[in-house]
Amino acid sequence: MAPPERKGIPASELSAERTYFTFPSGVLTYNCVTCNTTCCRGYGYLVDNRPVAQAHLAHGRNLHIFVDPQSGAPSNGFLRMRNCPPGCFFLTEGGLCGIQAEHGYDAKPETCRLFPFNYIRQVGQYVVVAPHPGLCPLQVVSHGSADVKSDHTALLADMRSQGISAPIPLVDVPPGMTAERIVSLELAIREAANRFEAGASYLEFAVQQLLLTCSLEPSVSGDLGCPSATAAAELLEGFQARSLELLGIRSEPEALNDAALVRTAVLATSTLRASIIFRPTVGRTAHSEVGGGVGRLPYVMQGVFLLAALAHDAGMASVTFQTLMRLADVFAPVLNLLANADRAVEWKAGVMIPPMPSDCTDDLLTPYLSVVRDLLPRRQRRTRRPLGDVLADAAPRDAVDRVRFLTLVGQVSQNNLIALGHALDGRTSVTRALRAGLQRTVLGALDVPSLSMLITARRRTSPKARGGSLGG
Ligand code: SF4
Repeated sequence: MAPPERKGIPASELSAERTYFTFPSGVLTYNCVTCNTTCCRGYGYLVDNRPVAQAHLAHGRNLHIFVDPQSGAPSNGFLRMRNCPPGCFFLTEGGLCGIQAEHGYDAKPETCRLFPFNYIRQVGQYVVVAPHPGLCPLQVVSHGSADVKSDHTALLADMRSQGISAPIPLVDVPPGMTAERIVSLELAIREAANRFEAGASYLEFAVQQLLLTCSLEPSVSGDLGCPSATAAAELLEGFQARSLELLGIRSEPEALNDAALVRTAVLATSTLRASIIFRPTVGRTAHSEVGGGVGRLPYVMQGVFLLAALAHDAGMASVTFQTLMRLADVFAPVLNLLANADRAVEWKAGVMIPPMPSDCTDDLLTPYLSVVRDLLPRRQRRTRRPLGDVLADAAPRDAVDRVRFLTLVGQVSQNNLIALGHALDGRTSVTRALRAGLQRTVLGALDVPSLSMLITARRRTSPKARGGSLGG
């Protein structure tokens, strides 16, 4: 099932007031020559509505063969063209777009005309425009300069010139918020990034995000409350120290104070936040209390920056906007765990916990089961242990295994953990709640070695039992 979407956006609905660009105006740039037009090399593109598509198909011989039949229904109003490496049918030897060269910029397919700022979503009455998440090697412009390629007024004019015909995914707002309020908060953070002083640390920017969140949206700050600037800095320093410990890093990365890295991360932050907040999902909300909560995003952002600094220290000379987007995506399960390490959490009511998830190798089974048992509600309500303590006690000593372990627990716990004392989810069926209750009784009654033996034995006799339920 595809996420809900609308069919394009007419130019009349594209206004400066209702369009949220996820990056500060003019701060991003790209160079098609040095990148060798990666976007034109095998990724396909959408062509507008049917008459334009026909005109477009007429630009090249036999092009109709390369229309993707999945999207070729006339009722869709758009067509997806397959493009094969090493390049588009229209890419000239000089690396130019043949359609643009012959028929002008406005004749280009919409995907290409708006690229790389063509990652468009709708939330309430707002259109959210972000850069494509990975294809274009965007760079942050040098301090004090601006590039028209990412200027909001110019981009909006481009969008308005023909309207948008591609399907636009519709996304939910975070719980307890409205589209206006989440966009206002993100605008405030984007503009704080734009004003951020050269030479300051990323941690200072994470503090600013925390303070802006709790002053504009105290309802999403949750158990963090609204700390003073000093207390917020202490919280984030504590987060950083705990994250490094859990990741098995003994000393702070040297690149934490690298001015270029800090500036790139600060200016990428509102886009990174948008990639989490405005994520289309199928059948359920993208926003879970643990992990995706808006109040926890400053921690997630500080975590992404920490990973970028570690990548830099590990030898990656140039950490770019693209690097940060990739790190945030690949490490999302780990970042969600780290961002909640200071909280006492428990398994949500009605959740069946996989006793042997498919990524869990035999060596990770014991540490994984320790965490599973420690977060059972009956235990947690007695001990009230912060998630970070539970993870630190169970984590393997080996550095690589620690990251595998955190990834595994992060994947299983995403959307399945909740701060202590959460009531039964209204959507949980009685049968499901009973099955989960029975499973928890078994998990709580047996110790980790017995559970481990039982699961391993079941796994050996029945490979299909891997990932199946225990006691349910
Ligand atoms: S139509 Fe032009 S801009 Fe689009 S992929 Fe082909 S060569 Fe590139």
